[in-house]
Amino acid sequence: MSAPVPAPAAGPGRRRVLGAAAIGGLGLAVGVRPSRASARIAVVPLTESRERAVVVGSGFGGGVTALRLAQAGVRTLLLERGLRWPTGPNATTFPRIANVDRRSAWLTDHSMIPGVPGTWKPYTGLIETVQGDGMTINCGAAVGGGSLMYHGMTLQPSEEFFARSMPSAAGDYDVLNRLYYPAVARMLKISTIPADILATGPYTSSRFFLDVAPQAGLRTFKVPLPVDWNYVRGELDGRYAPTYTNSDLTFGVNNGGKHSIDVTYLAAAEATGRVRVETLHVVRDLSLDAAKRWVLHVDRIDTDGVLQERKRIIADAVFLNAGSPGTTRLLVKARAKNLVPGLPDAVGTRWGNNGDRIYAWAGMNGDIGTAQGGPACVGGRVDGSPIPYTIIHAGSPLLPPDGTKLMTVVGFGIVEPKGAWTYDATTDDAKLTWDTDGDAALQTLVRARMNEFTKVAGGVMIDRDAQNTSTWHALGGVPMGEAVDRHGRVLGHQGLYVLDGSRIPGSTGACNPSMTIAALAEHSMAAILRQDLVRVF
Ligand SMILES: Cc1cc2nc3c(=O)[nH]c(=O)nc-3n(C[C@H](O)[C@H](O)[C@H](O)COP(=O)(O)OP(=O)(O)OC[C@H]3O[C@@H](n4cnc5c(N)ncnc54)[C@H](O)[C@@H]3O)c2cc1C
Repeated sequence: MSAPVPAPAAGPGRRRVLGAAAIGGLGLAVGVRPSRASARIAVVPLTESRERAVVVGSGFGGGVTALRLAQAGVRTLLLERGLRWPTGPNATTFPRIANVDRRSAWLTDHSMIPGVPGTWKPYTGLIETVQGDGMTINCGAAVGGGSLMYHGMTLQPSEEFFARSMPSAAGDYDVLNRLYYPAVARMLKISTIPADILATGPYTSSRFFLDVAPQAGLRTFKVPLPVDWNYVRGELDGRYAPTYTNSDLTFGVNNGGKHSIDVTYLAAAEATGRVRVETLHVVRDLSLDAAKRWVLHVDRIDTDGVLQERKRIIADAVFLNAGSPGTTRLLVKARAKNLVPGLPDAVGTRWGNNGDRIYAWAGMNGDIGTAQGGPACVGGRVDGSPIPYTIIHAGSPLLPPDGTKLMTVVGFGIVEPKGAWTYDATTDDAKLTWDTDGDAALQTLVRARMNEFTKVAGGVMIDRDAQNTSTWHALGGVPMGEAVDRHGRVLGHQGLYVLDGSRIPGSTGACNPSMTIAALAEHSMAAILRQDLVRVF
């Protein structure tokens, strides 16, 4: 049934129908299900188009890349596997923690996050869980990437800690500090929690943390967040249903007021008229054709994950921003299947979890209130620690019905990026193996510090990751200095760029990653547009 014909010399933006493709001919993408009808008919349309620049993924790396390409006059196609999720006061776009449904998970019949109940028909929902050996990654799958479900902690590392995590980019810290971290802060309109809000009932546990943490040896601070606090005030005075004020944030903020990537960088990019965002487009392979052009092999799916169309998209330049697990898997596959000959050996290496560790602190002495407001607005650091780390208080949306006092306290810090990804032909995917030596020394320090909290204020600290280690902060797999240069150019491969968290080897200087991912992308895009525009694409 398939009728491929030789590609014409189509100019950028052109699209043509090649015919139909048999399902299974090139292997299905992970998480894409053939339709029941396809078992009998087994054909879907196959189209081909030609683009100047294609961005894969719409999170922090993708949002920055799309905006800066557009502002430089480059017509850009952005491919995103997930959906758009519009918000506004009292919207019901996102599921709530007390009643989680299929919107919460990427094409699985239940949430893979421990403790989240329910089963459902698979849906192109918000969080993909990537199961590795020794580590589970949770990451965003939506227009805006992880910015939809992240707490929004927007921390810039110090120069010293930046250099310890990212030695190959250390020389760029000065310009990042002067120009690009501030550029991100402006775009995301970050600010710390105002005093009038911190003084309210739902933020009692945050004030409790600020009281206790110094006694446990921490220097405390308020966390910069991309939040319009008037939305929190709207909840406090009863105009809007609670979402910030009870920390019901893991599956998105319904009321709005969160300056996530979809409503900042991407909205500005689309407003130029030069960026076209295609949702429900899963890039499953990347190859180089005989004419040395980049070819993206894409499945367009519906919200049940059923394949609707196959696309071959030929591009002069491809910017991979599918996040650490997404970009790494695409490149490990491309190397293993020889779709892109000569990819660096370092592809698939230097992965890390940013040192994430989630603790539940139960039964402490003192008043922590009856609801816990968010996003995570207070934290602390230990000066002079041999391995730098940060501890923050993230509100717990679900509190024990028996009235047991409970707070979530999270540690993260600098790790050795000892994770590696290898291709598995049986699944046509790459799988992570995490070596726990990578963060063992850090976790010993974090555990000891958590014990200081209980010495000060009683109760017990339960390591929620003890049995099944997981992370929200996947980083690395395509490391700077080894697989890509300091501006994300894949070594030896003109026109192929990586500008997301996959190029950061394992941790971001004892800070959450998003601000550093975005600042590095800003810096790299400035260099790429200066040096590669017209010459390369
Ligand atoms: C619940 C949660 C809370 C978090 N809290 C914080 C926080 O407070 N502060 C912080 O700094 N960080 C936080 N993070 C981490 C932060 O969200 C990530 O570090 C950040 O989003 C990574 O940016 P990125 O550009 O590398 O990729 P992402 O933002 O993950 O974007 C990648 C995009 O690519 C898409 N994609 C992947 N594969 C494909 C494919 N094959 N085809 C097409 N599209 C694809 C994905 O759907 C996604 O939209 C949190 C993450 C989660 C999940």
